[in-house]
Amino acid sequence: MIRIQSQFKTILEITPEFMIKNNIKGLFVDMDNTLLPWDQTLISDQSMQWVNAMQESGIKICVITNSGSKRTDEVMKNTGLLYVPSAFKPFPFGFIRAQAKLKIKKQHICLIGDQMMTDALGSKIYGCSYIIVDPLSPKEQKITYVNRFFERILFGRDIRKKTDDK
Ligand SMILES: [Mg+2]
Repeated sequence: MIRIQSQFKTILEITPEFMIKNNIKGLFVDMDNTLLPWDQTLISDQSMQWVNAMQESGIKICVITNSGSKRTDEVMKNTGLLYVPSAFKPFPFGFIRAQAKLKIKKQHICLIGDQMMTDALGSKIYGCSYIIVDPLSPKEQKITYVNRFFERILFGRDIRKKTDDK
């Protein structure tokens, strides 16, 4: 079981070889601030190349996001990727829907996301591996500020401090 926080700054640093070595066959990839900045609708070429490299290595991907259908459909429309909008992470409903799409046992699934309160906690509750990366955009939605507050209290993870230190 992989449970990693802060080792990888972005998804681009995570290789298919790393996943294969850890017996991971499927990825749940968070959308906002993991795959692309939350205030944009176009996934960068670099990120799409990363997605393609994973898939060419035989690793299946399902995007799992708390964003609603409107934004998610817009972002995902030309990617050909499986996705689950309105996942309500950290609750397990979206994880179950995503797992049904991938048809891979949860012990072979790793979630990659940027938030402890939704992505890491949700993975723990559901029972799959996870990797937490840094958020792509420093600008965040209001609800995320609330989650960040709890991250600082519960996990001692201070994104603001980290950003200031750089
Ligand atoms: Mg996110």
